[in-house]
Amino acid sequence: MPLPETIRVSFGTAITLGLRQARQEVAPTTAYLLWDPGCRGSCSFCPRAGGNAGSDRLSRIAWPEVPWAEVVGRLASRPGPLRRICLQTGWNDGAAATLPLFIAALRPTGLPLSLTLHPAQLPLVGELLAAGLDHLGLGLDAAGPATYQRHKGRPWDADWPALRDALDRHGPRLEIHLIYGLGDTERAFLEVVEAVLARGGLVALFAFTPARGRGSPPPLDAWRRVQAFRHLRLLGALRWEDCRFAADGRLVSFGLAPDRLAAALADGKAFQTSGCPDCNRPFYNERPGGIMYNFPRPLTPAEVRQAVADLHLPE
Ligand code: SF4
Repeated sequence: MPLPETIRVSFGTAITLGLRQARQEVAPTTAYLLWDPGCRGSCSFCPRAGGNAGSDRLSRIAWPEVPWAEVVGRLASRPGPLRRICLQTGWNDGAAATLPLFIAALRPTGLPLSLTLHPAQLPLVGELLAAGLDHLGLGLDAAGPATYQRHKGRPWDADWPALRDALDRHGPRLEIHLIYGLGDTERAFLEVVEAVLARGGLVALFAFTPARGRGSPPPLDAWRRVQAFRHLRLLGALRWEDCRFAADGRLVSFGLAPDRLAAALADGKAFQTSGCPDCNRPFYNERPGGIMYNFPRPLTPAEVRQAVADLHLPE
């Protein structure tokens, strides 16, 4: 199968590459490309689920279609602030044959490459990493059997063990995408974050975004605690066994003295976009001027103070 003549890129990527003219509040530091000729997945939160390849939306942003050759040429010659490429893909039958061609075509740009897969495509992971990927993102999204079945339409008992096996083989190169706000309690969600990090994998956090007008974003205090946990656990600054949860699953203590917690969060990095190096995903989860669930840039000191206050930990 030859590569397509056009590809979708995120609107922010199109502006950064000079393919669209518009004011840009924060430039992406990763170029986001989308190849999805019709996804077999049925994720409840995705406008492109069920083969809806005509949608120009993914998360809350638009993905215009642009000439493939022009994208590759611009990435190679003047990437500007772009320091990584991420090819977002859907689950389709042509992926095994086509994705290695994309990797081969993008490698001459010299930029590190990431690619996203649906968990049904876990058998492709080893081959695609060997073909030249730097990192690979896997859309686990939900964090337990009930929410996984409800929002992904798939059996947790099959996909989670397969994903754990992949983590045991390729941990530090795998970003597990998780969406907080799909109905998992904080404790259930963080148990999965803990399991991924304990296996040497990485976690890319997303706040649920009601792109189809259904549901609502997660409470900000719970979201900030989830962000802080991922960051502190990745740094090795906390231990799961020391964390404390209320009966409803709410995280009430990181097991750290207040001054140690404040010092560990003082640089604000816990609240920046998480995932592959240089992945900042501007406005995937937030409207310009609205709540910054994932900050796509370093925080100001006032923003750090506010984000830490938003944790709402008991005294
Ligand atoms: S963390 Fe970012 S760059 Fe990495 S796979 Fe996910 S979206 Fe792509």
